[in-house]
Amino acid sequence: MKVLKFGGTSVGSSENLLKVRDILNNGEKKIVVLSAMSGVTDQLVKLTIGVKNQDITGITQILDRLREKHLDVIATIFDAKETRVALSNHVNVIIEEIKEVTSCDYSEELYSRLVTYGETLLTYIFSNLLTSNGIKNSLLDAKKFMHVDTVENPNINKVSTLLKKEILTQEADIYITQGFVCKNDLGKISHLKRGGSDYTATIIGAALEVEEVQIWTDIDGFHNNDPRYVENTRRIEHLTYNEAAELAYFGAKILHPQTVSPVIIKGIPVLLKNTFNPSAAGTVISGEKRTTGLKAISAKDNITAIKIKSNRMLMAHGYLRRIFEVFDNYQTSIDMITTSEIAISLTIDDDKHLVEIVREIEAYAEVTVEKEHSIICIVGEEVIADNEAHKLFKILNYIPVRMISYGGSNNNISILVDTKDKVNTLKFLNQKLFSYEKEELVI
Ligand code: ADP
Ligand code: ASP
Ligand code: MG
Repeated sequence: MKVLKFGGTSVGSSENLLKVRDILNNGEKKIVVLSAMSGVTDQLVKLTIGVKNQDITGITQILDRLREKHLDVIATIFDAKETRVALSNHVNVIIEEIKEVTSCDYSEELYSRLVTYGETLLTYIFSNLLTSNGIKNSLLDAKKFMHVDTVENPNINKVSTLLKKEILTQEADIYITQGFVCKNDLGKISHLKRGGSDYTATIIGAALEVEEVQIWTDIDGFHNNDPRYVENTRRIEHLTYNEAAELAYFGAKILHPQTVSPVIIKGIPVLLKNTFNPSAAGTVISGEKRTTGLKAISAKDNITAIKIKSNRMLMAHGYLRRIFEVFDNYQTSIDMITTSEIAISLTIDDDKHLVEIVREIEAYAEVTVEKEHSIICIVGEEVIADNEAHKLFKILNYIPVRMISYGGSNNNISILVDTKDKVNTLKFLNQKLFSYEKEELVI
């Protein structure tokens, strides 16, 4: 058994849905995890804002757009009139259901219920597309088995038991299910955060101990730098779990930050493939360490830097513990840290409790907050021992670097820059670290 996940662009049009159908139709047993059509989740997020603001006109417009988008797909990919009518009726029922949900009071659960409807709509249409093409399949409702309890630490055993029960009652070679949606420990509908269908795929992969998880997207694999900002990036053939986890956590959009964590213990490989070039090799992510040294660079935005300065007692016994406890109490994790004798600088990406954190620390130190920074992360197994890694420090001549973290792990060197310098930093590092000209090192 394999798990195959297809992302928003891969299922984003009638034409692409037919491509996905052809990729699946190879006689192998599989679970297929689908995202919503591209743009749909964004619309649903807007819908939740409409609910918050009680903007009835806005809500109606969004629902009309969603209805039209999905009815258009049905009109294009189904030949038989009765099928088109039946499916369109069902899509109308789902849209009416969404409308009813929008009349409820706003809550976290309401948000999750609304934003996950894109997956509900699309999987229904896609399962019927396979059926109408004579490809036997079974549509599984992810809300019945993705009972992860917590997003950070999903209860794989629980998902496994529930999913196996679902599969046993619906024998099929191809199972279709929704990415993104899940249930929390209170049994309420929740979601795995934006881009979470990748994570659904690996949670299912771990729950069923499958032979492989495939993530099908719109690019030919993991690249050595962010192709949205840098030209001439290259596909990477293989990444270790560690490398992929670091890159995804530090902003590589191709993978949800937590994608690899469920499959590491079980050693299940993750293969990244291109829906628009299915025969291309893609990128393999596994536990095997094939090469060491510099592999790739990624960037994570919306980072807040906090400098804590105290002339008297910074390095005094217990002082750092006091500072960290404040962050811990507000469940705010720290990404980078640097220290000097009188000051400590650290970064956070979740500034929900920033005001409270600053207020508490200001009781015994001077605190400065700088927003809109980006962490640029240079990743590879043993990257700190790479002969070329020293070149990255040339960046100091060109771009104001706020912090550097070197040696915290052998696999990651991070630098913090102002977000307005992010693209130039990525380009500069690409040139310095991935060009083939070698420099003689004279000591
Ligand atoms: P999907 O909708 O299939 O989940 P995403 O948009 O989430 O696709 O991820 C694929 C996109 O990630 C690519 O189109 C590319 O622009 C972007 N991306 C960012 N960093 C990388 C990288 N290092 N390698 C490949 N793609 C990357
Ligand atoms: N549809 C969801 C999103 O846009 C989940 C996903 O695409 O993975 O975030
Ligand atoms: Mg994605």
